[in-house]
Amino acid sequence: MSRKLEITHKDFKKPRHFDDYESMICYDAPAAAIVDRRTYDEKRQALLKGEQILLLDVPKREARCFKVLKGELCRISLPEGPQVGDLNLWNLDNFKERFYSGKTRQLHGSHLRMYDRLWSNLPYLNPMATFVYDTLCQYGIDKDGGALHDVIGTRCDDYTYKLITGKDRVGSCHSNLMKAVREYGLKEEDVHDVWNVFMCTGFTRDTQQYFAKPTPARKGDYLEFIAEMDLLCALSACPQGDVSTAVGQVVPDSKCFPLRVEVFRSDI
Ligand SMILES: [Zn+2]
Repeated sequence: MSRKLEITHKDFKKPRHFDDYESMICYDAPAAAIVDRRTYDEKRQALLKGEQILLLDVPKREARCFKVLKGELCRISLPEGPQVGDLNLWNLDNFKERFYSGKTRQLHGSHLRMYDRLWSNLPYLNPMATFVYDTLCQYGIDKDGGALHDVIGTRCDDYTYKLITGKDRVGSCHSNLMKAVREYGLKEEDVHDVWNVFMCTGFTRDTQQYFAKPTPARKGDYLEFIAEMDLLCALSACPQGDVSTAVGQVVPDSKCFPLRVEVFRSDI
């Protein structure tokens, strides 16, 4: 059913006047959220010339954990085809400190762009990582307001799936992440709202509902971030695959692909 507003309740029949204000950016680029781009470009170049210390493929419809230590660069790429990923981050030395998608969204925007940072929860509020490279940066904001790499979607989960379809299922980013973090002693409640890498999302202009489109990412695309602290990361190759299938419908296996993780270290 459409969420379009039609005022039918008798209490709201009489038109009411509201003052019209200019909108203002709430968090207008605090200094800590702005990085020196040249410095980060140079850091990135040096790291890519350094040593590759991890090459990990996250199988399709599964999740894996990996560590990225402070100053190391992590590249997440599409080795076989279009696929979206759901990423969780924790401070490796204190699992209570973890990625805070809501505050990251307020500080930067609903979709992250190169040189934005990923922030941790309260009471910490530290930069956990800095987004340094994106082969898809030219996508920008499309005609519907859609953009890539959001911090608005929470992660797909089997509870909401049941709410929509009435069916039981185990096979979501939430359950994948939960399974992957078990080896670190983390539990279901430690899994948190994600960075939706490669996902194309937005809000409809008329009803402000969350929408998704098939990812425009293709085989060979990648993004990179530099860790600002020692990180435990968990990445799910979303069972929605390239997001060309609506939630509740069966996602063909041919629409799902693995994600590749590479970590680079430099002594410079
Ligand atoms: Zn998912």
